[in-house]
Amino acid sequence: MSDNPVVLVTGASSGIGRACVEAFLAQGARVIAAARRTDRLEELVAGREESVLPVPMDVRDREDVRSALAALPAEWAPIDVLVNNAGLAAGRGPIQTDDPDDWDRMLDTNVRGLLNVSGCVLPGMVERGSGHVINIGSNAGREVYPGGAVYCATKAAVERITRGMRMDVLGSGVRISQVDPGMVETEFSLVRFDGDEAAANAVYEGLTPLRPSDIADVVTWIAGRPPHVVIADVLVYPVDQA
Ligand code: NDP
Repeated sequence: MSDNPVVLVTGASSGIGRACVEAFLAQGARVIAAARRTDRLEELVAGREESVLPVPMDVRDREDVRSALAALPAEWAPIDVLVNNAGLAAGRGPIQTDDPDDWDRMLDTNVRGLLNVSGCVLPGMVERGSGHVINIGSNAGREVYPGGAVYCATKAAVERITRGMRMDVLGSGVRISQVDPGMVETEFSLVRFDGDEAAANAVYEGLTPLRPSDIADVVTWIAGRPPHVVIADVLVYPVDQA
């Protein structure tokens, strides 16, 4: 990672993304914080306008992503590191009873969203011959659990995209990495269970989940390796998760 790099974090308004913003700032980076909830983004900036730029963005909307990134002030370009973190799980039932709208939300955010942002940022990185894309996958991309067919499929797709992307940019000097978290205590479960706090909290029963900062530590460590080193894929589990 160069000195004072510009880092774009998607899904910066909570959880892992927000922790990544703080971790990169602590290392002297300037961070473009993207998400839909503008109030959260403003709160994140909190007097740090020189080092955090809030960028409202729905990663599912290709034109929204394109125009938001095209409108970046000159001093916030080029983007040195992209953390593709925006994502969600939705629905809790089997496919035969699930709401198809939930499939769309997951596919559109976790897969198309990642592609939409990468498609805007990668050309500049390849042209400059430097840059780093770090995709947030999941242990769910490596296995399937009951009621998780579609979410697991989206994260398996992230893994394929990461590997394909690495081949696509081979020889350009651009680095492509992936971090697969196990269970992290964030708003993820609350979103998955549509605001049902009891169901969301039950997920963490019997184990100590990871903190968002545990993942942010790994992300910044990966970004900080020398330019000839690519940490391809890291799986991070809480000690109690099998
Ligand atoms: P959170 O719900 O806390 O954060 C998700 C973030 O994604 C929010 O900032 C949200 O912002 C953003 N987001 C969702 N949809 C969109 C969209 N359409 N456009 C832009 N931003 C969007 O969950 P986590 O921090 O846990 O999740 C971050 C990533 O980590 C996800 O990809 C998730 O799949 C992955 N992960 C999480 C695990 C966990 O146990 N928590 C385990 C493994 C992987 P906003 O709503 O403001 O747009």
